[in-house]
Amino acid sequence: MNKLVVISGPSGVGKGTIAKKLIERNENMTLSISCTTRNPREGELNGREYFFISKEEFVDKIKNNGFLEYSEHFENYYGTPKDFVLEKLKEKTVILEIDVNGGLLVKENMPNALLIMILPPSLEEIKNRLIKRNTETLDKIEKRMQRIEFELSKKDKYDYLVVNDDLNLAIEEIENILK
Ligand code: ADP
Ligand code: 5GP
Repeated sequence: MNKLVVISGPSGVGKGTIAKKLIERNENMTLSISCTTRNPREGELNGREYFFISKEEFVDKIKNNGFLEYSEHFENYYGTPKDFVLEKLKEKTVILEIDVNGGLLVKENMPNALLIMILPPSLEEIKNRLIKRNTETLDKIEKRMQRIEFELSKKDKYDYLVVNDDLNLAIEEIENILK
């Protein structure tokens, strides 16, 4: 049976980079696409990085039980569309790149889901990566940094912890876990 794999970890730790490489390297893996009410960043496309929807559409989808889980971050909603994931699972291992609250909710709904948390080599490094990524203002980066402690406090509830120091080693470690 195909697996549902949750990848979580603080903003800037490298989740997106890792998930993208995993699906490039493994034909049997695919990435779920979440819905969000935040604005697209430069280079992001609707239906590729996220389904970018309005707050009204998001609330409707909550009412219609359309999410496997959802949560609010940085004043925007993010959610995993249920039908979309169940459809994809028929064919491939599906990777969800979501925050810890979402990950734990997914595990409640689907106990066979595998939870992997990506850890930074250090807190300084994560800030460096967010600054280098250059997609948020410094003020927003500070907000994301403040959330890190919360994300890391849930790590004991995750099935596997993987440190993203050397990117390729982190990816190989996850591939081994999934084998
Ligand atoms: P997240 O999805 O967790 O917010 P990203 O995947 O966007 O994080 O990564 C944040 C930044 O860090 C990006 O600029 C990415 O290229 C860089 N990055 C990711 N992994 C590593 C790594 N192992 N070493 C150095 N930089 C990395
Ligand atoms: P970003 O705005 O950087 O793309 O994402 C911000 C946060 O939202 C990240 O921690 C990311 O993992 C989380 N996120 C993205 N999609 C979802 C989702 O579908 N559900 C939940 N709960 N969190 C998500």
